[in-house]
Amino acid sequence: MIRHRAVILGASLLTFRSAMLGAQAAPRATLPTSAPISDIHYEVTVDSTTARTRDLAVTMRFHVAGSAPVVLALPAWSPGHYVLLWFASRVLDFGATAGGTALPWHKIDFQTWEIRPNGASTVTVAFRYQADAHDRAIAYTARDLAFFNGTNVFPYPVGRGFAWPAAVQIHAPADWRIATGLTAGSAANSFTATNYHDLVDAPFVIGKFDFDSVRTGAVWVRLASFPAGGMRAEWRQRTLGWLSRLVPTEGAVFHDIPFSQYTVLQLADTIVNGGGLEHHDSQLDGVTMDGTDYPFLPFLYAHEMFHAWNVKRLRPADMVPYRYDDAQPTPWLWVSEGVTDYYGPLALVRSGIIGDSAFASQMAGDIAQVQSSVPVALGDASLSAWIGAVDGTAGIYYPKGATAGLLLDILIRDASNNAHSLDDVMRALYDSTYRSRWRGFTAADWWGTVSRFAGGRSFADFDRRYVTGREPMPIDSVLALAGWRVVRDTVRDLRLGAQVAAGDGCMLLSAVNDGGPAQQAGLRPGDCIEKVGDVPVATLGDWPKVLARYDTTILPGLPMVARRASDTLTLTLPVRRTARLVYRIEDIPDASAKAGQIRTGILTGHTGRGGDRSN
Ligand SMILES: [Zn+2]
Repeated sequence: MIRHRAVILGASLLTFRSAMLGAQAAPRATLPTSAPISDIHYEVTVDSTTARTRDLAVTMRFHVAGSAPVVLALPAWSPGHYVLLWFASRVLDFGATAGGTALPWHKIDFQTWEIRPNGASTVTVAFRYQADAHDRAIAYTARDLAFFNGTNVFPYPVGRGFAWPAAVQIHAPADWRIATGLTAGSAANSFTATNYHDLVDAPFVIGKFDFDSVRTGAVWVRLASFPAGGMRAEWRQRTLGWLSRLVPTEGAVFHDIPFSQYTVLQLADTIVNGGGLEHHDSQLDGVTMDGTDYPFLPFLYAHEMFHAWNVKRLRPADMVPYRYDDAQPTPWLWVSEGVTDYYGPLALVRSGIIGDSAFASQMAGDIAQVQSSVPVALGDASLSAWIGAVDGTAGIYYPKGATAGLLLDILIRDASNNAHSLDDVMRALYDSTYRSRWRGFTAADWWGTVSRFAGGRSFADFDRRYVTGREPMPIDSVLALAGWRVVRDTVRDLRLGAQVAAGDGCMLLSAVNDGGPAQQAGLRPGDCIEKVGDVPVATLGDWPKVLARYDTTILPGLPMVARRASDTLTLTLPVRRTARLVYRIEDIPDASAKAGQIRTGILTGHTGRGGDRSN
C-alpha cells in the first residue's frame, strides 16, 4: 500500500518534513534528554480478563544505545481534543526489565519515567492502563470492546524528536476485529507508523463490531460500528454512501485527497459526551444507540472528515509540530474548528446529501448562537479552549468561526466578481504551508491570502473589528451580497416539563419538573410515553414530530398514552408553550444577478458567472 504522504510530497519534500518532525518543543528545563532508543515495538493485549478489570496490558520494547538513562514520557493531551488529560495518571504497575531482570526506575515528573538500563541493550517496559473513561480521547473497555488512542499508551523518549518508526502488535481474542487508520504490518494484527505523530493519531477499536467498506475513486472508506448489530444494515449502507460522496467533495476544495483509506470508528453508548474526534485518516464518533439514525450524523461525519485537511494538515503555526507534554494554545481554532463547521454543511449541500434549506438553517443556527453570546473575540475564544470558560463562550469559536467563514466567503466572492472564493484561500494555504513546506500558517499567511483572492482588498479593518475585536459582525449587510437575509421569528414550543431518555420503544421520563405539564398530567419518573395526541413516540427523536404536529394547535390539553410497569395510562397533557427566538435564512426574491451567482457559487463550490451546480 502506498503511504499517502509519500505520494503527495515526493522524496525531497519528505526530507524537509522529516526535519520538521524531528523538531520538538523544548522539554521542561528539569527534564534530561533520553539515551537514544531505536527498534521500538509496542504491544497491547486485550481479552476477557482485561475487559473485566477495565484495563489494557501494554509493553514497549526497544534497543538502547549508550549508557545514559532512558527517559520516557506519556502525552498530556490528544491532538484535536484541546484539554489536558495527563494520560500518565492511568498507568498501573509500571516496570522495566532487561533479560528478565528488573531495572531501576523512578519518575522525574508526573508523566515522565527515568530508567537505568545498567548496560542492557534491549529494554522492555510494561504497565497496565486503566481503561474505564467515557471520553473520545481516553482508553475504554467493555465486555466485547477495547478502544484506545496512541497518546494514552505509547510512551516516547524525551528530547529525541518524533521522527522515528514504530511497530504495534495487538493481542486480542480470535473472534474480535481490529479497526485503525494505521498501516497494517506483515504479521497478523501488526501495524506500523513512520513517525510518532502518525502513530498516536490513529486510534484503535478492537472487539465485536460491524465493519463495512466502499470504494470511492482511489479511496477505501470504512465504517466500524460498535456494537455489532447496533446499527441496521441499511443505515450502515446509507452512511457509507454519504462518506463516499463527502471524500471527493471535500477533496475538491483542496484539489487533493491525502489518504488512500479513511476509517470512521463509531461507538454507540460508550461515550456519554458524544461528538467526534478527528484524526489524519480516521475519525472517532460517539453516538447514542437510538441516535444512529439521527439527522445530525452526516454533519458530524462531514465536520470530522474535513479536519483531515483543515487542522490535521493545514494547521496554525502554533501547532506545528505538535508538542505532547503540555497545552498548545492558538488564537486560530476559529479557523481550525469554526471554518470546518462552515465546510461540513457546505460539503453536505454540495454533494446533495442535504438541500439548500438545510444548509441555510445550519448557518442560521450558528448566527443565532453568535448573536445570543456575550461579545468575545474569535482569537480570545480560541485561546480559552483549553480552560473551558464559564462565561458562556466555551466553544463559541465553532459557530462564530463558521459565521466568519461564511462572511469571508461572501466578501471574497463579492470583491472578485465571484471569480474567487474561500475555497481558493483554503487551497492556497494548504499548498503553500502543508504541501510545499510542512509548516503552519500565520496571521500574515491567512489575511494575505484572503486579501489576494479578494482582488487586493484589505481585511485589516474586518480583523480589527470582528476577529481580534468584539464588535457585532455585519451579518445582515454581508449576507445581502449573496442574496440572503436573516429572519428572526418568535415561536412557541409545546412544553413537556421533564427530562427524557431512550426507553424501550417509548420516551422514558428520567425526571419530572415540579409543577410542569408532565407532572400536572400525572406522569412520574420511570413512566414511558408511547403517544402524544396522534403522534407515536418510539424514540427521543420523535419529540420534534410532536412539536411539528401541535405547534400551532389551540387546545387545552393533548391526549397521551404512557406505560408504567405493566400498566397502560391514558392521560391529558396540559398544553403550555415556551417562547423561543428562531433564526432562519431566506433568499431575497429580487436579489441582483451578482448576488444570485454568489449564493449559487457557495452552494455548489462553483466560481464565475455560471449557474452550473456541478463542481
Ligand atoms: Zn472539529
